[in-house]
Amino acid sequence: MSAARRLGIFGGAFDPPHHAHVALARAAIEQLQLDELRILPTGLAWHKVQPLSDAAHRLAMTRLAFADLPQVVIDERELCREGPTYTVDTLRELHREHPQDTLVLVIGADQADTFDQWRESDEITRLAIISIADRPRAQAPAGAVDAAHVPGGQWVPIALAPLAVSATDIRERRAAGLGIDHLVPAPVARYIDLHHLYLPA
Ligand code: ATP
Repeated sequence: MSAARRLGIFGGAFDPPHHAHVALARAAIEQLQLDELRILPTGLAWHKVQPLSDAAHRLAMTRLAFADLPQVVIDERELCREGPTYTVDTLRELHREHPQDTLVLVIGADQADTFDQWRESDEITRLAIISIADRPRAQAPAGAVDAAHVPGGQWVPIALAPLAVSATDIRERRAAGLGIDHLVPAPVARYIDLHHLYLPA
């Protein structure tokens, strides 16, 4: 039987992956002493309203973005799932596959704000430790992670210097003909250019 490990789980649309995603992954690995961090590009995320770019593009960019982090494993399971994807299903599967491991779910503060609307959020908190990184956002001051929406109120902070970058902003900048090279890892910028992503239709 294999020894218990600390297995991090970090999901996102990654449309595209950007500097804050990589900084958050790095901080999570170090601060939470993760043996492995599973990065899961989402399939049809139930809470995202805008249509996502092709799964193949998001997967390729995710691989490029996190290539320098040896603890990262890109996990494609949510992309392969039919219909909407739910974190609780992924955690149940990972718990079945790695019953010895401690699961640690990594999210940004904007996700923590609506965590109690996630499917079976109380079950999620039974399956995994919830770890939250602050994220600058319009409706909340920096330094204000509001964990009132985490059932049981148990969570672990991840210290992350505030990075006001979002994938939405990157897509909008690109559509407006503005540069994005300072917001994404260089290989991701090259990929976006090569495949003419996020340009006006
Ligand atoms: P979009 O603008 O399209 O909604 P996004 O930038 O929020 O995208 P996601 O792929 O949805 O990126 O985010 C995946 C995870 O990374 C989420 O848990 C989110 O909270 C976190 N995250 C994204 N950007 C930041 C940031 N700047 N600081 C901290 N956490 C972040």
